[in-house]
Amino acid sequence: MSDALQSIQHRIKDLLRQGAIRLCRGLLRMGSQLYELGEGPTVIIAPHQDDETLACGGIISRKRNEGLSVDIIFITDGSASHPQHPRLDAHALAQLRKQEAMRALSCLKVERPAVHFLSQTDGTLHRLAAVEREVLIVRLTALLRTIAPVEIFLPCMPDGSSEHDAVFGFVTDAIARSGLKPAIWQYPVWSWRNPLLLLRRWLATNDCRRLPLEDNQQAKFVAIQCYQSQIAPLPPDTTAALPADLVKLFQTDAEYFFRYRLPANTGPAA
Ligand SMILES: [Zn+2]
Repeated sequence: MSDALQSIQHRIKDLLRQGAIRLCRGLLRMGSQLYELGEGPTVIIAPHQDDETLACGGIISRKRNEGLSVDIIFITDGSASHPQHPRLDAHALAQLRKQEAMRALSCLKVERPAVHFLSQTDGTLHRLAAVEREVLIVRLTALLRTIAPVEIFLPCMPDGSSEHDAVFGFVTDAIARSGLKPAIWQYPVWSWRNPLLLLRRWLATNDCRRLPLEDNQQAKFVAIQCYQSQIAPLPPDTTAALPADLVKLFQTDAEYFFRYRLPANTGPAA
């Protein structure tokens, strides 16, 4: 097949996908209820430094502007975003991503004591040994008991990312062990690029909430710009870690969340 033909096929596929995403967003807008701001502490779980801002930047900003406490828990160190980068090794990347996260969260008015870095090695969550998994869940459970959130936001299951899917499992186990009964909201990141995945999530939960960003839109957009290592090429790379079309999906006027309920037979550890 010629390069020109391949390029046309690629372009057609891209247009079809963008159309499907627009349709999906329209359906979610029509079929969702408005998210009502709950009182009490909130926890946002982010597998990587950027997930919290892309998917929940509006809600973080809104809650902080209302004077509500919001804690952010980063699970990984983000060190796998640029494997084999000639100038930044894994340690330097982890440091850079931590700095970017602090800048982004400062735009959203989250203060340093409310930001928690668990620093698991990025890219390993889906293959943690049983002992490592247990240690991580114990840490998460302890943190949740200390914060005692009334709402927790975590990535969708499935979200089209093995890291995000693994985090969902760790966090729901930790919530069950904690004995807490928070409202649990799933947020989409990678699944925005796969409308079928999103629609299946919606049908499975039958409860999608919409947060119009309104006055908080600007703060979110500025916070996204703090993640330059992800949204722009890190020289000498010529492409960004996050595809531009994915980032654009979060520069919109609303955020969407799907309700999750723990199975009835789960409970705190004895
Ligand atoms: Zn992520």
